[in-house]
Amino acid sequence: MAKQQQVVVVGGGVIGLLTAFNLATQGQAVVLLDRSAVGQEASWAGGGIVSPLYPWRYSPAVTALAHWSQDFYPQLAERLFAATGVDPEVHTTGLYWLDLGDEAEALAWAAREGRPLSKVDISAVRDAVPVLGPGFSQAIYMAGVANVRNPRLVKSLKAALLALPGVTVHEHCAVEGFICEGGKIVGVNTALSEFRGDHVVLAAGAWSGELLGSLGLELPVEPIKGQMILYKCASDFLPCMVLAKRRYAIPRRDGHILIGSTLEHDGFNKTTTDKALQSLKASAVELIPALADAEVVGHWAGLRPGSPEGIPYIGKVPGFDGLWLNCGHYRNGLVLAPASCQLFVDLLLECEPIIDPAPYAPTGRI
Ligand SMILES: Cc1cc2nc3c(=O)[nH]c(=O)nc-3n(C[C@H](O)[C@H](O)[C@H](O)COP(=O)(O)OP(=O)(O)OC[C@H]3O[C@@H](n4cnc5c(N)ncnc54)[C@H](O)[C@@H]3O)c2cc1C
Repeated sequence: MAKQQQVVVVGGGVIGLLTAFNLATQGQAVVLLDRSAVGQEASWAGGGIVSPLYPWRYSPAVTALAHWSQDFYPQLAERLFAATGVDPEVHTTGLYWLDLGDEAEALAWAAREGRPLSKVDISAVRDAVPVLGPGFSQAIYMAGVANVRNPRLVKSLKAALLALPGVTVHEHCAVEGFICEGGKIVGVNTALSEFRGDHVVLAAGAWSGELLGSLGLELPVEPIKGQMILYKCASDFLPCMVLAKRRYAIPRRDGHILIGSTLEHDGFNKTTTDKALQSLKASAVELIPALADAEVVGHWAGLRPGSPEGIPYIGKVPGFDGLWLNCGHYRNGLVLAPASCQLFVDLLLECEPIIDPAPYAPTGRI
């Protein structure tokens, strides 16, 4: 076990929670600070598909994190469920992509990466998903793709974290700036008090760029709003995830169906709009006509931590000893969390990293 150090984690979304959890299980003392209740921002609002939406369109850097995480998710969920009694509900349904323009690229990518993606006849899709709309003519399918019930994942992570020794969580405690002494970051300021540590980790999602700005650094992480709607159907209504024209339907185990999502540049404004509601309903009905008769039981917005190419920042901040980043996961923070947080802890504790850390290093990117 590594020598015990004190680590201050700023932000309690899936990234901050899992970073803190991994550090604490390695015997580190952790203080996690969140300006509201933990796990209520993007990590609550997301859809929870345990895959990038179009994995073949991403860089190898995102793919490497995604593949490590996808393999690890079932065991993470089992461990959290056993430790807390809160089941993150990893639901392995497979995913159909319908009427893609770049099917050939997708299939070539999957062959290279050894992923189980195959072309399927549309009649076979209709047999597997009888509620599918009539307007589609071609499909590819990846078996084994899961979704995680992210509000339960963060609830479970919080409970698991609080049960570990050496952990303190302060909610409703906004970090206002960093304490810099002799060129080293030694803590953070909040309205409540100072929190000092050997290391400070910025995992504040869409707010990370703003916070780092207080040190005169330009971190290109910006909020990208996403709205989703929710239906409640019978538990066997939709057996698989389906995706067409950048919109998707995700079945939870209990028959809740999520339809997402919009992609909007609207600053830190999280209000929902009627325009998005109508557009999401139209996509829902195109994918699954029977939803025209179902009631929308939820509609919300969240702020994704947008970053160039969706490649997260994981590692030390150059020029500011003691300050680290784990942020900028854009559309894929739920799927990328296990690998990102394991890689992060490997770097901080100077262990052999699970994957090559170079593509995520802040050096040269901020
Ligand atoms: C509509 C939508 C659909 C999505 N679908 C998927 C999907 O299917 N699959 C997938 O992998 N990803 C998905 N995502 C993306 C995913 O949700 C995010 O990438 C991920 O949740 C980011 O996690 P995070 O911990 O970095 O940020 P957040 O969950 O936003 O957490 C950041 C935390 O920092 C706190 N904070 C902010 N400022 C401060 C401060 N000054 N002091 C202290 N605390 C602070 C906040 O209160 C918050 O709790 C989706 C996102 C949205 C919005």
